[in-house]
Amino acid sequence: MLHDISLPYLSLLSVVYEKAFLQIRMLTLMMYLVIVCPKCGKLLLAYSSQKTRVCPYCRKRIVVSEAVKVAKAESARDASIIIQKLKAK
Ligand SMILES: [Zn+2]
Repeated sequence: MLHDISLPYLSLLSVVYEKAFLQIRMLTLMMYLVIVCPKCGKLLLAYSSQKTRVCPYCRKRIVVSEAVKVAKAESARDASIIIQKLKAK
């Protein structure tokens, strides 16, 4: 019977989906940080999972955990809006 054969496959599939779902959740937990370059003082974007980030303006390697964090956002889009607002000040 088709039902008897497909059932184990379905439970296997649900495990795979559950794992994929967890990975997506992990990704969405990643935050975008707006940090200040300690050398040139410009605002730049870093991921919360990143350890270091090279400043696009002065090429300094910034340790993200040590940098001054101005704001954090849940998406790159939100983060760029925050940067635009901060720059407009
Ligand atoms: Zn810089």
